[in-house]
Amino acid sequence: MVNWSRIDTVLLDMDGTLLDLRFDNYFWLEYLPLRYAAKTGMTVEAALKWLQAFSDSLHGTLNWYCLDYWSDALGMDVEALKLEVQDRVHFRPGALGFLQFLHDHNKRCILVTNAHPKALELKLVASGLGPYLHARYSSHSLQLAKENTGFWAKLQQAAGLDYQRSLFIDDSLNVLRCAAAEGLPHLLQVLQPDTTLPVRPRSEFAGIVHFEEIMPA
Ligand SMILES: [Mg+2]
Repeated sequence: MVNWSRIDTVLLDMDGTLLDLRFDNYFWLEYLPLRYAAKTGMTVEAALKWLQAFSDSLHGTLNWYCLDYWSDALGMDVEALKLEVQDRVHFRPGALGFLQFLHDHNKRCILVTNAHPKALELKLVASGLGPYLHARYSSHSLQLAKENTGFWAKLQQAAGLDYQRSLFIDDSLNVLRCAAAEGLPHLLQVLQPDTTLPVRPRSEFAGIVHFEEIMPA
């Protein structure tokens, strides 16, 4: 599935690819509604409904990922709330072994994430991911989300990447489609971003559930 002799850089998404999306789903669909309900006097169900409608209105934009934007909108410190439950941040199964494999084979490891810089720092510390990375890019510093047209050209310039020799792994179909449209040839989809939810159906991209599927025995 991956011809490693032709790849020297691996571009890695964070949430749902290296880290279990269970944390994010728990935070946004369970913990935040609970806390927002307590703050506003809404029922938890009403808070969840309100938050989902607000979230839908931001989908696909950088603000959707922006902790400062959310904090202002809700009148709550969303970063502090995430810190309260940071012990729930975990690698997806096999992710650590895959990072070690990349290190042992001298592959350059670059994190490319839509996570807000504050969420990124929090998760690097909570997971222990930081030391495995040669570089990291938050889409906030490039002013475009990964699924926005122009992101990949901008990243190439900023990071000096050779996409012909780069493998990009992500769980988001919209992000992968944008990367494909901008000419990235080696794309791979993670099909089970949240380990507590069912495996997603295959798409037009090569897909994996476990990293072992792309590591030589
Ligand atoms: Mg992701």
